[in-house]
Amino acid sequence: MMTINSIEELFKATQAFHGSIGFVPTMGALHEGHLSLIRQARKENDFVVVSIFVNPTQFLEGEDLDSYPRKEAADTKICELAGVDLIFMPNVAMMYEADELSITAPAIRGFILEGSKRPGHFNGMLQVVMKLLNLIAYHKPTEFRAYFGKKDAQQLALIMQMVKNYFINVEIVPCNIVRSSDGLALSSRNVYLSKEERAKALSLSRSLRKATEMVMRKEFSVSVIEKAMQEVLEEVDVEYIAFVNREFQAIDEVEIGNTIMLVAAGVGNTRLIDNLWI
Ligand code: AMP
Repeated sequence: MMTINSIEELFKATQAFHGSIGFVPTMGALHEGHLSLIRQARKENDFVVVSIFVNPTQFLEGEDLDSYPRKEAADTKICELAGVDLIFMPNVAMMYEADELSITAPAIRGFILEGSKRPGHFNGMLQVVMKLLNLIAYHKPTEFRAYFGKKDAQQLALIMQMVKNYFINVEIVPCNIVRSSDGLALSSRNVYLSKEERAKALSLSRSLRKATEMVMRKEFSVSVIEKAMQEVLEEVDVEYIAFVNREFQAIDEVEIGNTIMLVAAGVGNTRLIDNLWI
């Protein structure tokens, strides 16, 4: 496995990759959620590239950019064991210059939910994903796939839209959410939770399970389901409960096979998101 810290070396290495490339962009502090993306990429491609880059432009003023968990040595080991061919770990200076052109998230889908709670976050996220896709596929692999988790459902929808709108030659592969046995969706930010906070955090996945049960009992009204979810979420600071279709448009009625239920909440100082696709 190669660990590469410069763009020149990256280009040299990928030039020698004759075959398909599966790419998994991450911010590091790898866990089973990331690993499931890496395993899928390993299964479906000749070469697997993982990037680890805590991208400053997607953090807002006052967010956890400085304290975001960084675990280079452990991440390297995990990638090696998972059969990754190349880890790309750039620094900020080689990724950005002053006075860059910018990418703006779409006016509706980019500004609801996470977009309204974290204004500017998606612009920075799309900017870095565009850069990374262009960098990894610079030497035009025969096939190019990039793997993203459904955990960040709105992010995934916007990346798919960017790829479509800008005619980027990549297949975006959505991957299922990995949870711990108690139901909590894995996240690098879970390390911030105290024992008590973690117990409260379980209410996010519990509320989504509750919603699923209601749908299975043929309750499709979003307002009725939302109310029940609110009760389950009593102990956390709910930011939003939302129901959208796969196009990320708000809906009033659940349609099985075309609905994403999302929840965002603060638990202590930690902000958590979770969702369920039905
Ligand atoms: P991050 O390092 O948080 O930027 O995440 C990198 C990729 O891993 C993104 O595509 C995430 O959606 C995905 N991811 C993070 N947590 C999970 C999870 N619990 N299950 C599946 N994918 C995940």
